Amino acid sequence: MAGRIRDEDIALVRERASIAEVISDTVTLKSAGAGNLKGLCPFHDEKSPSFNVSPARNVWYCFGCGAGGDAIKFLMDAEHLSFVEAVERLAARVGLQLRYVEDDRSAPRRERPQQGQRQRLVAAHAAAVEFYTAQLTTAGARAAREFLAQRGFDRAAAERYGCGFAPEGWDPLTRHLRQRGFSHDELVTAGLSRPARSGSLIDRFRRRLLWPIRDLTGDVIGFGARKLFDDDDGPKYLNTPETPIYKKSQVLYGIDQAKREIAKQGRVVVVEGYTDVMACHLAGVPTAVATCGTAFGGDHIGVLRRLLLDTDAVAGEIIFTFDGDAAGQKAALRAFEDDQRFVGRTFIAVSPDNMDPCDLRLAKGDLAVRDLVARREPLVDFALRHVISRFDLDTVDGRVEAMRRAAPLVAKLKDQEKRPEYVRKLAGDLGMEIEPVQRAVLAAASGRPMDTPARPARSEPAVDSPQSMVEREALKLALQEPVLAGPMFDAVEATDYRHPVHVVVRTAIAEAGGAASATAGAVWVEAVRDACEDLAAQALVGELAVEPLRIDGEPDPRYVSITMARLQWGSVTARIRDLKSRIQRINPVSNKDEYFATFGELLSLEQHARALREQAAGGL
Ligand SMILES: [Zn+2]
Repeated sequence: MAGRIRDEDIALVRERASIAEVISDTVTLKSAGAGNLKGLCPFHDEKSPSFNVSPARNVWYCFGCGAGGDAIKFLMDAEHLSFVEAVERLAARVGLQLRYVEDDRSAPRRERPQQGQRQRLVAAHAAAVEFYTAQLTTAGARAAREFLAQRGFDRAAAERYGCGFAPEGWDPLTRHLRQRGFSHDELVTAGLSRPARSGSLIDRFRRRLLWPIRDLTGDVIGFGARKLFDDDDGPKYLNTPETPIYKKSQVLYGIDQAKREIAKQGRVVVVEGYTDVMACHLAGVPTAVATCGTAFGGDHIGVLRRLLLDTDAVAGEIIFTFDGDAAGQKAALRAFEDDQRFVGRTFIAVSPDNMDPCDLRLAKGDLAVRDLVARREPLVDFALRHVISRFDLDTVDGRVEAMRRAAPLVAKLKDQEKRPEYVRKLAGDLGMEIEPVQRAVLAAASGRPMDTPARPARSEPAVDSPQSMVEREALKLALQEPVLAGPMFDAVEATDYRHPVHVVVRTAIAEAGGAASATAGAVWVEAVRDACEDLAAQALVGELAVEPLRIDGEPDPRYVSITMARLQWGSVTARIRDLKSRIQRINPVSNKDEYFATFGELLSLEQHARALREQAAGGL
């Protein structure tokens, strides 16, 4: 083990390393005037930049949390490196050969094993990449080459991403790296090898296609490995375990190649797999990254926000692509929960054919991949559509329930100025008036249970409601005056009645042979009572058979006609409301036939409604 780094060399490293360049690897900086730069602090959570860098003085300082120092201190804090590791890293960067002095006895011994550990682990990975990529051209790697070729990746693409092959055998990599001077412990700590039950060291990956995973600065810190043979054990994808340099909650595959474009475009595309990242980059979407064997989480957001310089003033765009399947949608909706944790505007791009970017590029070409990203939709829109799709919007109940479920999503919108826009959109999607939707959103935003919205027309009306009264009157006419009311009464279906017990009685009258076939008297009333399927309806029949009609004097055909017209009026207007709502939701261009059919139905119903209104007003 080398000794202490010479003081002159440390000073040289400090002098030569550009602090702006070093920090720019992980934090996007913009001008703060007077030659200074600023960005979002990587050491505390903030939404407006208080992290300042002075290239002239070669220092950085955060006014938010008080952290600060030189380039060495930055690497130590940001990358969790020891002092020696940070100096070694900077020296490699500026091309300086470090000189070491003999071990200083006053240096605490227990610090020694940590010194240079990161560099050793990174070096082991670099050697492993070299080994694995060489293996990809061997006869044994045919399945790996075929896997890549079948997904549209040629040799140049495989080389650009450093794809490799972990060969057959228990320990070819381990032996190779041991020969190159890496210790047993280093290989285990790096996650490249693991002890077998026998105690000897074996390779972690065998018979798999490998993708090297790099950090922001381009160092390889781990691997993702795809199973190629069905008879092999283990999951389809296997990743490097958690190590001192590989933190899966922060790692984003492709970030090293994508970071400049992410910062430049203010946009990042999050895809699901290694091949999707490759496909996106090659298709002209250079901002694509993927998580490695873990869900997209808060740490990933932190890494991206600093690259996007995502502040309240500047909104970076995060675009998630998901398969159209249930798992993908669930992931997207979970992302909506996370949405509040970063200011950036979040979008969803779902391929209409449920293809991931890799499949899409293969089937339809580069343009289709770029188009997928271009057709992104705001996450809120996606989530609303998803919620609404679970309800039948052709019924009032369905629309009201969909509104109740969707309102909290709109209420959650961080950007309150967008709420009115989404209230309008939601009302349009549901085919409802804006006002009840607005009330539902306000109620959800205030956390109060929602005010009762306009009740759906088909629910049970109150017993003393006008609709209920007119239904009662119609049933009384059928029971007491069957000869007079029979034909008109029988012509109106049970579906036009809204109170459930009235529906039962109306059905019982039909089952007893219909009012038109009856003559007034106890026999008729008994027959209806017997046909009732529940006790409440039977009791009601007894009541209605004796309750006086609401007309002074004898009932006549005009009175029956008015009563039956009023009774139908309620259900016809409810059906008109449903149809109007459905028409609002039909695209007249793409669904022309449905649109005109529904429109025709609406016109005839409105005609019917006009006729009923005249009839209810007393005309026959
Ligand atoms: Zn800070």
